Amino acid sequence: MTKLILLGLVIWLAIYILKRVVNRSNTRPSGTPEPNNLEGENMVQCATCNVHLPRSEAFLVNSNFYCCKAHISNT
Ligand SMILES: [Zn+2]
Repeated sequence: MTKLILLGLVIWLAIYILKRVVNRSNTRPSGTPEPNNLEGENMVQCATCNVHLPRSEAFLVNSNFYCCKAHISNT
């Protein structure tokens, strides 16, 4: 009879631990905001119109970033 009680206790403990693990993976800390920029890419600012754009899409001329070729010729 004591074996049966012990077995029940072990099963209950297993379920209890399993529930805790599941709860921990489901409840993520809400204090960490998702980064807005795509793929964690650096954002740069156009020297002419001050628009923000990913660095890979920006034109780099004389250590200044530009959003399009038209804005490069303006300076
Ligand atoms: Zn621009």
